[in-house]
Amino acid sequence: MINLIIFGPPGSGKGTQAQKIVELFDLTHISTGDLFRYEIGNDTPLGMKAKEYMNKGELVPDEVTIGMLENRLNQSNNPNGYIFDGVPRTIAQAEAVNQIMTDRGTEITHLIALDVPDDEIVKRLLERGKTSNRPDDQSEEIIRRRIVEYNAKTSPVFNFYAESGLSNKIDGVGSLDEIFARIKDCLES
Ligand code: AMP
Repeated sequence: MINLIIFGPPGSGKGTQAQKIVELFDLTHISTGDLFRYEIGNDTPLGMKAKEYMNKGELVPDEVTIGMLENRLNQSNNPNGYIFDGVPRTIAQAEAVNQIMTDRGTEITHLIALDVPDDEIVKRLLERGKTSNRPDDQSEEIIRRRIVEYNAKTSPVFNFYAESGLSNKIDGVGSLDEIFARIKDCLES
């Protein structure tokens, strides 16, 4: 079983690579950003709450995120495993994810971080914003806020899993196939 956290700043290519990994290993892809956007699209109370934070480039509170993640996992039982995309984003979320996995009789097996410089991220997200319809991709100020949130709250999650020897960092700049090959090497080694 592979339970992989695909990790890295916004715009590092997590979602794109997650889709390729899912196909190869037949995993279930769980993206909390996508789950929040689904709730927003359906005008649910959870979506309305998440939107307040997302549109400012801030993290949605942990209890909201963890509750939603638990619900999603309760609807699914894939013996091949899961890819967690955009979660955990805080140490509290990492602790909650570990507990949820333990309760399911399993554990996180890998964290792979995509390393991409800040200026490249801003460039990629502004480009994506032309077609993504995502309010948080539209302004450089909000993108920079997301990077600040990542550095302050999310990047420590790398060290949290490094303590158990699960964290790997790979170069996230290159063609999609080059980056995918680096991820495969990590998963197969
Ligand atoms: P993403 O699609 O992963 O770039 O996430 C878009 C936005 O959704 C983030 O900037 C946050 O506002 C929110 N979000 C997604 N996942 C999480 C999470 N695990 N914890 C808190 N906020 C999240």
